[in-house]
Amino acid sequence: MEKARFLIGGVVQGVGFRPFCARLAMEEKLKGSVRNTSSGVELELWGERGQIDRYLRRLERECPTAAYIQSVIPLERQDNASSPPDSFEILKSEGRAVRRVLIPPDIATCESCLKEMRDPADRRYRYPFINCTLCGPRFSIIRDLPYDRSNTTMSTFSMCEECSAEYRDPTNRRYHAQPNACLVCGPRLWACDCRGITLAEDEAAIQTATKLISRGSIVAVKGLGGFHLACDARSDDAVGELRNRKRRSHRPFAIMVRDLEAALKVAVLTEKGKDCLMSSRRPIVLCQARSGSGLSPLLNPGLDSIGIMLPYTPLHHLLLEKLEVLVMTSANLSEEPIVADNEEALGNLSSLVDAFLLHNRKICMRIDDSVVSVAGSRAFYVRRSRGVVPQPLFLPKSGPSILASGGEMKATFSITHEGALFQSQYLGDLKSIGGATLYREALKHFLSLYSIHPEFLVHDLHPLYLSTRLCHEVLPNPTETLAVQHHHAHLAACLFENGIDEPAVGLILDGTGYGTDGGIWGGEILWGDASGFERLGHLVPFTLPGGEKAIWEPWRCGMSLAYASELHEEAREWAKRKSKLSPDFDRFLEVSIQAGVKTTSCGRLFDGVSALLGFVESVTFDGQAPMVLEAAARGSGNLPFSVVESDGKILIDWRPAIRKLFAERGRKSPASISAAFHGGLARALGEAAALAAERKGTRRVVLSGGVWQNRRLFSLMIAEARRRGLIPVIHTLLSPNDECVSVGQAVAGYWKWGK
Ligand code: ZN
Ligand code: ZN
Ligand code: FE
Repeated sequence: MEKARFLIGGVVQGVGFRPFCARLAMEEKLKGSVRNTSSGVELELWGERGQIDRYLRRLERECPTAAYIQSVIPLERQDNASSPPDSFEILKSEGRAVRRVLIPPDIATCESCLKEMRDPADRRYRYPFINCTLCGPRFSIIRDLPYDRSNTTMSTFSMCEECSAEYRDPTNRRYHAQPNACLVCGPRLWACDCRGITLAEDEAAIQTATKLISRGSIVAVKGLGGFHLACDARSDDAVGELRNRKRRSHRPFAIMVRDLEAALKVAVLTEKGKDCLMSSRRPIVLCQARSGSGLSPLLNPGLDSIGIMLPYTPLHHLLLEKLEVLVMTSANLSEEPIVADNEEALGNLSSLVDAFLLHNRKICMRIDDSVVSVAGSRAFYVRRSRGVVPQPLFLPKSGPSILASGGEMKATFSITHEGALFQSQYLGDLKSIGGATLYREALKHFLSLYSIHPEFLVHDLHPLYLSTRLCHEVLPNPTETLAVQHHHAHLAACLFENGIDEPAVGLILDGTGYGTDGGIWGGEILWGDASGFERLGHLVPFTLPGGEKAIWEPWRCGMSLAYASELHEEAREWAKRKSKLSPDFDRFLEVSIQAGVKTTSCGRLFDGVSALLGFVESVTFDGQAPMVLEAAARGSGNLPFSVVESDGKILIDWRPAIRKLFAERGRKSPASISAAFHGGLARALGEAAALAAERKGTRRVVLSGGVWQNRRLFSLMIAEARRRGLIPVIHTLLSPNDECVSVGQAVAGYWKWGK
């Protein structure tokens, strides 16, 4: 008999959470108790270990839709506990229970609604906009608070007799369901061609779209937070055509499958992966693709992973009745944000698609699909968006209103308000025209929704970040501002989401961040917390020949790595091969290496190695070279990296590894060298972290930065940390990539002005 106590944080009060805990305990035959406290819900469970573990899994998976579990913190676990209670009880609240006004995120269609939609006797039989209090659109249709129908984009539809009767009946599942509707009174569906001429309506529109897709056409489908481009995921012709039209040659396309059974045919899913896929947030789940599944290889060229999701609106369910698996990629032009408006879609997407499946429920706030990456039994958000946003994270106590502007490439902003921290949805690349527009739109929306007037502004140390400028537009005269170094923000964000108040060592590995010395950082060993940091060490720096160009042409990084490793002949060969336009490649090499800017970027190290092993010489999207390098890796082994202390700094020297890579290039496969690169790097990172931790007398090592999206390196590092007695601190709620930067900034501001 085991006794375990947990503290559950998040939106867990006033949402029927305690009765839910009690019901689960009854079903799992566990004893114990549950009660509200001022910091969440305290749960005590008595039973077999397996039962308790299963209970916790179900707790997260079956959690009431209005509730939101932010954290499950173990308070106590006792193996041979004696004298268990003889029942499970709901106890009286301890202290004052806290309730906050929160806007729910958009929620996937619930089982009850699906059942009705499939029942020929039901009045909403095959109605593509069926919803109830447990499911349906929320954040994407809310224009203002309080959350009443008149403040949503449903205000233009007045409910019919039957719908309003449900709406007024407290015993009905649709009591105050704001988007409540039916075929008589609610939104309607139609299919049209690229000129906007209607082809079919309602049920016939679904049949038309289905037919078009199964014949190889591409259809723009209006969804919850924006449009998707849909086509047959099994057809090389259709997927190839989509790539051509979108001018997107390599970036993988996500797919939507009918149900779990269909998912298992195309992907290898762990229990954790299944949980993520089935959750009412319905994210895209990145997992291992199954070979020989019949999917077009053009979906994910060079990769062994695939992003899959299940249907999350009634329309998706209807569309997937006859089509088992669809490409469902965000509808946009190259790096621009997702398109959400009918007129805009007809204007901008006509060159990409053969037809449209439209409806007349307006999307107020554009929001992309969320993405979760699964590595074995662990899962973390890569993109935190639809289904999650605007659920806040909670600060220890109330503080001033702070606006944090975030990064630039994977932009988000964060706002603190009365003890809550709201992170915006993923806003994309601010350098695209639409990216900046969406950033402005979302920022104004958040501020007016919650009537927040921020006093303070936190931004990146980089003097030219667009996000900083955009925030200054809405907050021209902040009381005070604070500039936070990029990698420090990563560290602070990860500590915060793990509820850690003490400083820790950070292994912050990413593409680029502006350093305190004006350099381009990206392979950093830090020590610090929200209040400040110290740079303990970093990767041995190397030059970026061609500066910005090196980001899109990894061979430049490869050449530079070889040159720095005293492999001058080898570097010359690259220069010779690549500098066709330059008559003097010696000079080209000299100039590009000597005049190039220096970096410690771990992302660029991966880029260079990917090029040196012949995988990717130039890329079409950020992260492509490392993704292909990771996917190719087979076997184990360790390339020799060395960790040295020089001038008090811990340096991770990759040069011996590059020399070994060249020595083995002819004899071993690139796949096995890739594996050894990952292995060697993880080992060196472990050694460097241990050294840093010992210096500072800690065991905690924070892993943040986009490089940690690499599941191979991540898993190796977790094992490495364990072996050395270190405690890895990792992201699960926030993305390890630059989306988390705004959160780290906000937390740094909160520490400065709120404590
Ligand atoms: Zn429902
Ligand atoms: Zn109605
Ligand atoms: Fe970063």
